[in-house]
Formats: sequence, structure tokens, C-alpha cells
Amino acid sequence: MSTPTRITHLIGHASWEGEAARTSEVFNPATGEVTGTLDLASAELVDEVVAGAHEASKAWGQTSLARRVRILFAFRQLLEERKGEIARVITAEHGKTYDDAVAEISRGQEVVEFACGIPHLLKGGFSENVSTSIDAYSILQPLGVVGIISPFNFPAMVPLWFVPMAVATGNAVVIKPSEKDPTAVNLIADLWREAGLPEGVMNVVHGDKEAVDALLDNSHVKAISFVGSTPIARHVYERGVANGKRVQALGGAKNHMLVLPDADLDLAADAAVSAGYGAAGERCMAISIVLATESIADDLVTKIVERTRTLSTGDGMGGSDMGPLVTKQHLAKVTGYVEEGVAAGAELVIDGREGADELGSGFFLQPTLFDRVTPEMSVYTDEIFGPVLSVVRVGSYDDGLQLINDNEFGNGTTIFTNDGGAARRFQHEVQVGMVGINVPIPTPMSYYSFGGWKNSLFGDTHAHGIEGVHFFTRTKAVTQRWLDPSHGGLNLGFPEND
Ligand code: NAD
Repeated sequence: MSTPTRITHLIGHASWEGEAARTSEVFNPATGEVTGTLDLASAELVDEVVAGAHEASKAWGQTSLARRVRILFAFRQLLEERKGEIARVITAEHGKTYDDAVAEISRGQEVVEFACGIPHLLKGGFSENVSTSIDAYSILQPLGVVGIISPFNFPAMVPLWFVPMAVATGNAVVIKPSEKDPTAVNLIADLWREAGLPEGVMNVVHGDKEAVDALLDNSHVKAISFVGSTPIARHVYERGVANGKRVQALGGAKNHMLVLPDADLDLAADAAVSAGYGAAGERCMAISIVLATESIADDLVTKIVERTRTLSTGDGMGGSDMGPLVTKQHLAKVTGYVEEGVAAGAELVIDGREGADELGSGFFLQPTLFDRVTPEMSVYTDEIFGPVLSVVRVGSYDDGLQLINDNEFGNGTTIFTNDGGAARRFQHEVQVGMVGINVPIPTPMSYYSFGGWKNSLFGDTHAHGIEGVHFFTRTKAVTQRWLDPSHGGLNLGFPEND
């Protein structure tokens, strides 16, 4: 076993040289080995980093759009060139397959490409001659320092949802990545340096609750973008807002796929398997519940079983379809849900625990399928965040819709049908932020915005797209008067509306 690598903060353009009072271990989930020792920041260190970012934000906020865009284009090119290197690190710390790691970087890169259009996106409005010799217009200005707190499941994509938008709009960033797979953000931060971003505009602090709470309490941090589980999202939102910040806190999910009797069942089964088991179910847009209408439920389950049995599980670098879970603790939690499902009387059609031990010392669970799950079972109510797919049989479209709308989460959902009228009704009636029609995972493109409803999002602004521009800027409305030289003199009264 090789010596674990030290992973530390990246402040300004340099690695931190202090000695951490607290550290945590980083694992390779495919082998179970400890591969890294991560420095955890104290509240004092976070305050120091924010103070540096605050200084850097002053000049960066004044930097021309032309220069900002050149840096964004350079960063985009470096990201493209180093994708493989970053993806290998993601697979080694998160466990997802190498192809999936490449794909998440590519989705993040799309946000960089969107942010390259920032001169157009930052154009305010202009109304000439709202009254005689008076014009009105708006300008969008940066906030200063923004804090970003990201989850383990997309160690590159989620940071890339926010950092390019924050930097393009003229802010300085302090990001705290997940302590489970922290290295990808360090590599990405280094690319910003190479791209020419001035020192202090992009900073990485590693840590846990202490670092997060320090960001939430620091008055120089004007906005927080958080992604993670619902209880922590609620905490971050409440504490951040109480401290006067704007906060977008994206939380957990329990995504349903509704399959109507007229659906293409092969397409639906393909989608259920890829969206249920891709990245071992550790995606906030994973499908975890298939709502199968009774008349097609047997056929659909048969098709899902056929496809699931072809999936291979193993090391994400080894060409398998699915990798391990992120930690031993998370594996135990997911396996606990499988036991609870069995005890509650759900039909365990495929038991992913079987054969998992033979895959080595990593944190493996193979794809698991339940049928005849009912809404009071914990496999239905709770976010499992693992490769466990549950089929719930429903009588009709209305029964399926009711279940989705009654659910506490509202991140993503999808319907499979060949009836355009039913699909149109669904997108209108469903109480969920991101909706798919005959697609497995309806993740919005970078030029739309990403965000759920209900307990899947605290705050009102979604990530990237035009909502991202608004989140990271403050609007100023200006009314100006320049007198025409032919005007007779000063008018001290209110402008007349003529
Ligand atoms: P998590 O909530 O455990 O951690 C998220 C971040 O919060 C991490 O940086 C972590 O260090 C920090 N954190 C953890 N405990 C904290 C505490 N007590 N106080 C302050 N900060 C704390 O989430 P996770 O396990 O890393 O990620 C998985 C979760 O994220 C799932 O619930 C998933 O649905 C959700 N997620 C949601 C979206 C979305 O867009 N809605 C996207 C990705 C992931």
C-alpha cells in the first residue's frame, strides 16, 4: 500500500503551507485503500482566505469584459485538454466509471462555454427619453466574494455550475468541495491560474462543518451556492439568510419515472436502467422509483430485469458499467435500505448484495431491483442514493401524478408515453423543477437553469443559465438627464411626463 498523498487548500495561486490541526482520510472506493490525507480548514483560516478574496474582488470586479472573456476561453481550452487527467482523479476518489467522469466534466464545460458569452449576458436594459431629455437604464454589478459548497457526487460538474458564472460576472470565489473527493477541484483551480485569472480570485478551502459555517458567518461573503443533502441545504439556507446573504441551496431528491400503457417499453426499460444504476445511483437526477401502470407492469419489469442482468460492476477504470459506492459508511446505509425493503414485504427481484464480496475489498453493491413497493416503505420515502431501483404499480396516470406531487422532493421526473396530450398535461401538472418526456435524465442544458422544487431547493434562484447571471450580480437602475443645449434653463421640479 502506498503512502497517502497530502491534499491541501489552494489559496490565491499557492498550496497552503501551514499544518492542519485536523485532517480526514480520502479513499479509493474500488479498493478500500486510503489514498489521501486531507487538511480540514479552521474557521480562522477560512476568514483569512475570505479576506484575501475580498481584496482580489475589488480589482477583478473592475476588470474589462474583454479580459474576463479571454481568460474564460483559455480556461475552457485547458479544461478540454486536461479532461482525462481530471477524470482519472474523479474515478479514483469517487468510484464512478472513467467515461462517466469524462461526461461530468463535459457537462460542466458547457457552463464555461455559456459563461464565455458574458458580455452579451451582462447587457442591461436602456430606455431612451422616458421623459424629455431623460433616459433610464440598468447595469449589473458583481457582489464581491461568493462561497460555493459542493457535494461528493459530482466533484467537477457541480463546482463548474457555479465558478465560471461567478468569475465571469466579476466576483471572487471561495469554494469548499466535498471532503470525500477533494482533488478534482484543486486541479480545476490550477487551470484557472494557468488561464490567467488573477491571484486571489479563485480559492479552495477544504473542510467540514466548521469551514462551511465560517463561510456562512463571514460578512464579506455575499452569496452562497450550496449543493448537497436536504438537511444540510436547509441549515445552509437558514444560517446564510439569517446572516443577510443571498443563498441558493440545492438539496436531495427522489425522482420518479411514470410509464403509461402506450409507452415504448424498450425505451422506458433502457432509461430506467441507465438512470437508475448509472454512477451507482449516486446522482441527484437518478431515477429511483418507476411508476408502472398495471397493464404494462409485468412486461416492463421483465425488460428491466433482462437489461440489469447484463450490467457489470467493478473498478471504474476497468471498463465496468458501474463502480462502487463512495464510502464504506454509505455502502452500509444503502444495504440497510435493502434489508428494510425486504422486511417491509417488497419483492426483491434482483439482490445486488449477492456476489458483491467477490468484487474485492472496495465498497461494492450490485444493481438491486424491488417490485411491488408501496409508498409507506422506507425504500419509497427516503433518498437512498445507491443502485436500488423500486417499481411501484399504479392504476392510472392520475395515481402516478398524485404520488409524484405528494413527494417531499421535486428535483427531476420523467414520463414515458406516445400520447402528446398526456405528456403535455404532465409537464403542466407535475410539481417538479425539471421534467423529462421520453428521456431518462432531464438535466437542463447550461443555457437553461438547473434546480428543483419543494425540499430539493431552498432559495428561489436555480443554477447557471440566466438565473445564474442574476444570482451573482446586483442590478442598479439609473435615471439620467442631460439637457439639450437648446434648453432654456434648469428645471428644479419633477420631470414632466411628456
Ligand atoms: P452532504 O449534504 O453530506 O454534503 C454536501 C456538502 O455539505 C459537503 O461539502 C459537506 O462537507 C458539507 N456538509 C456536510 N455536513 C455538513 C454540516 N453538518 N454542516 C455544514 N456543512 C456540511 O451531501 P453529499 O453526501 O456530499 O451529496 C449527496 C447529496 O447531494 C444527495 O442528497 C443528493 O441528492 C444531493 N445533490 C443534489 C443536487 C441537486 O442539484 N439538487 C446535485 C447533486 C447532489
